[in-house]
Amino acid sequence: MRLRNVPGAREDIAKHELAINEPENNKGKWNEEFGNNNPIQLEIGMGKGLFLTTLAQQNPNINYVGIEKYSSVLVRALEKCEDLELDNIRFIRMEAEYIEDAFAEGEIDKIYLNFSDPWPKDRHAKRRLTSVQFLKRYDTILKKDGVVEFKTDNDDLFEFSVEQVPEAGWEFVAKTWDLHNDKELVQGNVMTEYETKFSGMGHPIHKYIIKR
Ligand code: SAH
Repeated sequence: MRLRNVPGAREDIAKHELAINEPENNKGKWNEEFGNNNPIQLEIGMGKGLFLTTLAQQNPNINYVGIEKYSSVLVRALEKCEDLELDNIRFIRMEAEYIEDAFAEGEIDKIYLNFSDPWPKDRHAKRRLTSVQFLKRYDTILKKDGVVEFKTDNDDLFEFSVEQVPEAGWEFVAKTWDLHNDKELVQGNVMTEYETKFSGMGHPIHKYIIKR
């Protein structure tokens, strides 16, 4: 079965208290949604949400928003939250291209991109979540000293992503082609679903952290 065809997924999301159906209404007011002024971090393309729900449990004083375009995977993230009683996490089903409709200038502290779709064809390069076009969007919603953290096992995507950083006027805070063997960067690493799968297959995991 193709995941995106999970029956009733959209309806389940629409009535779930952790799913935000009209994110544009929270733009500039996410602190009201969370009921505090804690920093807000995003994962774009969060899939089934293992990474973000783990972080939310570890860091009750940080607020997390997961963005995912497919309801079928987003419902899995909602299910993960069922018994956790977390009040510092929300989910949005949306296409990341429209992220500036959901968050105001400088509203976000950190953006995580984990195992983003590679879009291997050259003509689709601007759809990659690490392209100059997307970095421009992140530039708007991120705080001045905010960072983007990106992990992938895909060599071509990582190479492309690394090239985009100076092109967009950003700079590296850290970069590794083998995260799990990098003594410093691996500290506190929280595994994602894809990371578990691909590192289990012997793929080295690449990571960068970038800032403006
Ligand atoms: N981050 C998870 C899932 C990686 S798969 C992990 O590491 O395990 C990539 C996910 O990003 C998929 O669920 C896909 O639907 C989502 N995605 C890709 N492009 C997106 C976009 N433009 N907007 C929102 N979600 C996107």
